[in-house]
Amino acid sequence: MIMLAGMSLKEIESLMVKLKATQFRAKQIHNWIYAKSVSSIDDMTNLSKDFREELKQIAVVTDTKIKCKQISCDGTIKYLVEFPDGNCVETVLMRFDNRANLTACVSSQVGCAVNCSFCATGKGGFVRNLTSSEIIEQVLAIQRDTQLKVTNIVFMGQGEPLLNLDNVLKALEIFNTDFQIGARRITISTSGIIPGINKLADMDLQSTLAISLHAPNHELRSELMPIENKYSITELKKALKEYVEKTGRRITVEYILIHGFNDTPAVAKELAYLIKDIKCNINLIPYNSVIENDYKKPSNNDVMKFKYLLEHSGKKVTVRLERGADIDAACGQLRGRIAQ
Ligand code: SF4
Repeated sequence: MIMLAGMSLKEIESLMVKLKATQFRAKQIHNWIYAKSVSSIDDMTNLSKDFREELKQIAVVTDTKIKCKQISCDGTIKYLVEFPDGNCVETVLMRFDNRANLTACVSSQVGCAVNCSFCATGKGGFVRNLTSSEIIEQVLAIQRDTQLKVTNIVFMGQGEPLLNLDNVLKALEIFNTDFQIGARRITISTSGIIPGINKLADMDLQSTLAISLHAPNHELRSELMPIENKYSITELKKALKEYVEKTGRRITVEYILIHGFNDTPAVAKELAYLIKDIKCNINLIPYNSVIENDYKKPSNNDVMKFKYLLEHSGKKVTVRLERGADIDAACGQLRGRIAQ
């Protein structure tokens, strides 16, 4: 069966050629999927009944389902999206009260090989890459469920996007052209996969690149992120500077603050020194304690002190609001819990 969700307008037009249908039909179908968020061909009521029956012989709108959903009192919704092979990924919808933005945090892989020590997804290992359609389906599942239009996308869910770059780029193009989400409203986050960063630098995308740094030196970083042993912080800094030079774009440095580990004033000063010559904003993320490990949430006082010291570097520093504190909001928690 062909899955219509995830197909670009061009791909739907080619399908119409095979069915000897008009190109106008392609536009109608495209509109039903991306603007009206329907889940079934029967819902495409401006197609003739005969044509819908013909289309149903070979295609479905979607073959994924929402296996589970948690709603936080702050409006964050976490979905567990299940694909036909039984694999599931997490997708989160975040709403920010003071803005009209609806941000979808999408997964790019089932599981993850990077194995960061603070992450529940990494613990389960890598299962497989998602196809571009499966990436797109996560956003469509949100839109179908809420009947709201997603305005921003962050590739910060499960998996390492730069280890599935071809499918991520194809999905990004469809988000951009078919969902009409501006490239500047799309962020790709990486743990520091240097070949992928180099490739993005050569492509000169308008999207934002976010780097999960989490520590300012090799010793601390390799404790949190084994990827540091493959792509060291020294090489990473070089790649980031080249990226900024080639694209002129400011990157985002993501930094998880863990109590007593990487949240001290000495570490803040070291981080400020490391990034002083990189064009970047910094996003501090106070760690959300989970049962699966011993890392602790930092105190508000330590977070503010860390922010203050970093701001001395002249960078814009934000502290990410805690979203979904009352649900399994940390990456991989919901999937892990449901799989048990
Ligand atoms: S934090 Fe991201 S890159 Fe690291 S293990 Fe988890 S999913 Fe993979």
